[in-house]
Amino acid sequence: MKFLLENNLSKLAKWLRFLGYEVKVLEGPVNLRDLIANRERVFITTSRRWERTLRNLGMRFLVVPRQDWELQICTVLKELGIEPVLKLNRCAYCGGDLKPVNKEDFKERIPPKAYEAAYDFTYCQKCDALFWKGLHYENMLRMIERALRRCEDGKGQDLRA
Ligand SMILES: [Zn+2]
Repeated sequence: MKFLLENNLSKLAKWLRFLGYEVKVLEGPVNLRDLIANRERVFITTSRRWERTLRNLGMRFLVVPRQDWELQICTVLKELGIEPVLKLNRCAYCGGDLKPVNKEDFKERIPPKAYEAAYDFTYCQKCDALFWKGLHYENMLRMIERALRRCEDGKGQDLRA
């Protein structure tokens, strides 16, 4: 499953990438040309304005609440039956594939504290971003657990990949 997101859903895009999905975010307002060019993707929007067009295109789509990213992510997971596992195999910035790397090779770019304590270092060749698991990973697990509790089906799931 690949996604196309309305341009006000960048936070949701980030979380879908954390879950391992290929996500494209529209750069400007929704328009017919972009919808047609991406019709094989699931379109996520906060408005019903394009509903008829989407149905005519036979494009799968989902309307999520505005603003509230917790409700957005739990709506997507619930409606599409997605397993809420934080795969962290895609770059949160550009969606590129992340490759495991040795922290020794990136020592000058890693804050000393993270260098000591963090683990699972990964690198995005597409945009040169470096990621690692540490305290923020534990926070992310808590954030998505809390988000999932907003939709009743999400209780008690194990999110670790
Ligand atoms: Zn990247």
